[in-house]
Amino acid sequence: MKIEDIKTRPFFCSQSSMKLALNCIRAWFFKIRWGLQLRGVEIKESADLGQIYHKFQEFGPGQEQKVKAWVTKRQMALSLQIDKGEDLDGQMARLVSSLTVSYNKAGVMARIFWDKYPQPSYLKTIGVEIKHKMDMKFPGITIPLEGTIDKLLLDTRNGNVWVRDHKSTGRALASLFLGIQWSIQARLYRILAEDYCKYKKSDIDGKEVKWEVAGFILDGILKPGIKLCGKDNRNAVAWNCSIEDAYLRRVKEWYAVKEEENPGSTIKSQSIMFNEPLFPDELKRDLTRLYNISIKGKDPKAYSRDGTRFHCYLYEKPCIYESLCSAPMSRWPELLDTKFKIKEEEK
Ligand code: SF4
Repeated sequence: MKIEDIKTRPFFCSQSSMKLALNCIRAWFFKIRWGLQLRGVEIKESADLGQIYHKFQEFGPGQEQKVKAWVTKRQMALSLQIDKGEDLDGQMARLVSSLTVSYNKAGVMARIFWDKYPQPSYLKTIGVEIKHKMDMKFPGITIPLEGTIDKLLLDTRNGNVWVRDHKSTGRALASLFLGIQWSIQARLYRILAEDYCKYKKSDIDGKEVKWEVAGFILDGILKPGIKLCGKDNRNAVAWNCSIEDAYLRRVKEWYAVKEEENPGSTIKSQSIMFNEPLFPDELKRDLTRLYNISIKGKDPKAYSRDGTRFHCYLYEKPCIYESLCSAPMSRWPELLDTKFKIKEEEK
């Protein structure tokens, strides 16, 4: 693959792309503007678990079969590739079984979360997984913004709208909650939600209610360190219950031990009220920085590597672009051919 043949994609802003740009503009250029990703399939257990957990939250209690169908579809697509002989390194087969492990884990996490934080009856779900696009306008600058809002809730008592996001982590819960009020995510989701709600009206008991985007609810849950195994088969027989219920009981006990060791460390739901301007100065500065990055052109050398190297080994994993960053550009065509592929553009 020749460097000059790679098409540079149009610029847009989303909360994840903006976070990446502010961390390492070289990685941002590779990922967002070139659409570069590793060949083959990558087992990202944590990301897969998070995605399946999101599906449970999206469909809600009692809709487990929908999530199961979603996971099965993905596994079947992988099996098809394996049958065609595309699984050269065994990663696809491993991913098929790892998705089952993640499905089981995410299922018990969702059940435990719903038990602890059932949605109050006065909160009505406006929508889930809302994909929204808009233009953010500043003097002389227009930045296209897009994103998927996990969930929008309407407080039927007063017309307040809440942006809700579910997250799971294997790290301390504080890593999710610390600084959420000034996070790029909360600020950009607010802008998207405001735009989405601008022309929507709600009718509650025959009374027209104006929607006001009031705040952000973040739900966080620790990923269980145990997976469904033979022990749950044996327990299911001994306890006369399903294997899933036996596993649920074991995970609940695991959470109880963690809570005893460190109270508040396993599951939390926190809301913040939006009480700053829609575009606070901090955000304006970050957006202006992003815009200036976006107009740097097509030469990868214009995008500096992360000199702090902080982003190069985030979450105990090397950055997927490390081989490109470490090699002279003369070697890039060979690396691009052997290690990378261009992700298809979303329509
Ligand atoms: S290896 Fe480091 S410098 Fe290179 S793209 Fe990744 S994060 Fe950026």
